[in-house]
Amino acid sequence: MDFTKLSHKYQTPLYVYDFDYIREQFSCVKEAFRARKSLVCYAVKANSNLSVLKHLAALGAGCDCVSVGEIKRALFAGVAKYKIIFSGVGKNDSEIEFALKEDILMLNVESEAELKRVEKIAQILKTIARISIRVNPNVDAKTHPYISTGLKKNKFGVDIDTAKKLYIYCKNSPFLEPVGIHCHIGSQILDVAPYSEATAVTAELLRSLKALEIDIKFFDVGGGLGIRYKDEVTIEPYNFAQAVLANLAGMDVTIVCELGRFLVGNSGYLLTKVLYEKQNGAKRFVIVDAAMNDLIRPSLYNAYHEIEVVDKNGGGTLADVVGPVCESGDFLAKEVMLPPLENGDLLVVKSAGAYCFSMSSNYNSRPRVAEVAIEDGKERLIRRREKFEDLIELEREYLGEQ
Ligand SMILES: *Cc1c(COP(=O)(O)O)cnc(C)c1O
Repeated sequence: MDFTKLSHKYQTPLYVYDFDYIREQFSCVKEAFRARKSLVCYAVKANSNLSVLKHLAALGAGCDCVSVGEIKRALFAGVAKYKIIFSGVGKNDSEIEFALKEDILMLNVESEAELKRVEKIAQILKTIARISIRVNPNVDAKTHPYISTGLKKNKFGVDIDTAKKLYIYCKNSPFLEPVGIHCHIGSQILDVAPYSEATAVTAELLRSLKALEIDIKFFDVGGGLGIRYKDEVTIEPYNFAQAVLANLAGMDVTIVCELGRFLVGNSGYLLTKVLYEKQNGAKRFVIVDAAMNDLIRPSLYNAYHEIEVVDKNGGGTLADVVGPVCESGDFLAKEVMLPPLENGDLLVVKSAGAYCFSMSSNYNSRPRVAEVAIEDGKERLIRRREKFEDLIELEREYLGEQ
């Protein structure tokens, strides 16, 4: 990829996504589940650019959405409504109503109170809500505590006994139809064992529901497959699939998985230019034009993103790479080896396809950056850089007479 050319044409900071890579990752997952009916629902929150969604939809992906905004994005980008799932621990009435009216595949319900709200709204709309219950299997995904979701102490899902009770409730309600079992234990998972454990728990529930003549069609194993940021040893999709399928012998269900990071994480690059170097005592700082508002993962999770210098040899000395935002937590990397740098040098922050642009903000009144896709060797803009006018658009009319 010609990062220099891209940086000249579109300026920096700039997100660049390799759409061919996304296609390969998607195929890899589909291939792993080849022996079964499967639906790969892309977790929209990882990167919700419409062109990314359209690209995945064209490959046959569905979408896992956690807000009405994400459902609308998925529909707008051409994702089939019967491939859209609505997850999330706090859906409000208007969101539930929208999802039911759009007749999406199913709602992943996370509590008894939510189930009763969905029932009530389905009754008002004179419709039947397709339901999947999110089970919290109490399994340790052994990942960062902020992205671990399958433990009792996390806010997500319900325990097995409650789940069973809710399925029976669904079965007896004229406005609810139980169609799926759902579980999602966390993100950036690098060990296959938690998947085996979690699916063993939910597969047992599946069997006991069959015995109660509750016909579950979709077995949703969630997402969370980790990727390599530095030197992590990741799970092969084949081994992930085997861990899941081993628990499902003889069960005729469609496997659903909700992958975000795995599909797009390593497709992305954040291009940023060096503004200055500065030395504070013994400490060396490289100040760049991208900041925590563009990529918050290092500040938020202490996440590591590899940084590559374009057209300069390695070596050098340790430095922190920091942005212009007025926070000490504003850094993209700490203590990385970098050669001497000067104004205009180009850096590439890698693995920036998931939870990067989608978590970006306008903090410090910084316009959000542009996004570019590369596909079959050709590049195209998929989101223009915000302008100052975009930043004030929703406020200017309230200034009154000037
Ligand atoms: C965030 C999320 C995912 C995707 O997680 P990744 O780690 O990006 O694969 C899937 N399902 C649910 C319910 C989520 O909240």
